[in-house]
Amino acid sequence: MTRTVYVNGEYLPETEATVSIFDRGFLMADGVYEVTSVLDGKLIDFEGHAVRLERSLNELDMPAACSKDELLEIHRELVARNEIVEGLVYLQITRGSDGDRDFVFPDPETTKPTIVLFTQNKPGLADNPAAKKGAKIISIEDIRWGRRDIKTVQLLYPSMGKMMAKKAGADDAWLIEDGYVTEGTSNNAYYVKNGKIVTRPLSNDILHGITRKAVLRMAAEAQMVVEERLFTIDEAKEADEAFTTSASAFVMPVVEIDGVALGDGTPGPIAKSLREIYLEESLKAAI
Ligand code: PMP
Repeated sequence: MTRTVYVNGEYLPETEATVSIFDRGFLMADGVYEVTSVLDGKLIDFEGHAVRLERSLNELDMPAACSKDELLEIHRELVARNEIVEGLVYLQITRGSDGDRDFVFPDPETTKPTIVLFTQNKPGLADNPAAKKGAKIISIEDIRWGRRDIKTVQLLYPSMGKMMAKKAGADDAWLIEDGYVTEGTSNNAYYVKNGKIVTRPLSNDILHGITRKAVLRMAAEAQMVVEERLFTIDEAKEADEAFTTSASAFVMPVVEIDGVALGDGTPGPIAKSLREIYLEESLKAAI
C-alpha cells in the first residue's frame, strides 16, 4: 500500500509529495515538529502535542499553519487512510519558502508556512520487546543550543548521539551539561533510588515532554514520590533503576549506564509499573 501523506492542504501518495528546495526547514532547520503515537487506531494525548506545537510556533514567531481542529482532522484522516493501528503521526511546520535563501525571516503575510504530516506504521509499538529487555545508555556531553524547550527540527546532534551509542554497543545516550544530566537524545531521563523518582525540572534546558507530564501525574496518583531536581550521571549509575519517557517509546526501562548495570540489570519495578499504567490510562483517554 502506498503511504498517503499530507502537504499544504493536500493528501497525496508519498511519491508525489514535494517541498521547495528553498524551504527554510531544509536550508536552516527553521521548523518545528511533533510526534503523536497511535494505539488501537487512536491518537495518544493529541491535546498535549497540539498545545506544545502552538507554544513552539509562538516562541519562534511562526504563524500557525492551521487550527487545532483542522490538525486533529488531518491526523485522523491520515491514520484512517493508511490503516494505522499502532504507529506514529509525524507533523512538521516550517517557516516556508520565499523562493530564495536569506537569513532574515520572510514576511509571514506573503510566505506561508509549510506543513507536512505522515504516518509511520509500527505494529507492536505497545508490546515492544525492547521494553522487556530495557535500554543500555551511554552519557555524552550536551552541546545543543539553549532553547531545547522548543521542539525544532535541529536533530543533528541527537542523531550523532544515537550513533555514538550504537558504536559503543548501547541503545541510546543521555546528555550532560555542567555535570548534570539534561535529558536523553529523544526522551526525558529519570532514575529511581529507594522508591524515589528523580528527574530534572522543566526549564529551557530540556524539552517539556508530553509523556513526562502524563507520567509524573500518574506517578503522583499512584502515591509514588517524585523529586524534580538536577542530578548527576554518577547518582544515576548508583540508582536502583532508571527509565526514559517519550511519545514514541512511552516509558522505557534503562538497565545500564556507561557499562554499569542498575540493580540486577533488568527493568525495575517502578519503570515496569509506570509503563503499564501509562499505556492503560493513555489508551482510555485516546481519541
Ligand atoms: N526530550 C527530547 C530531546 C525529545 O526529542 C523528546 C521526544 N520528542 C522528548 C524529550 C520526549 O518528549 P515527548 O514525551 O513529548 O515525546
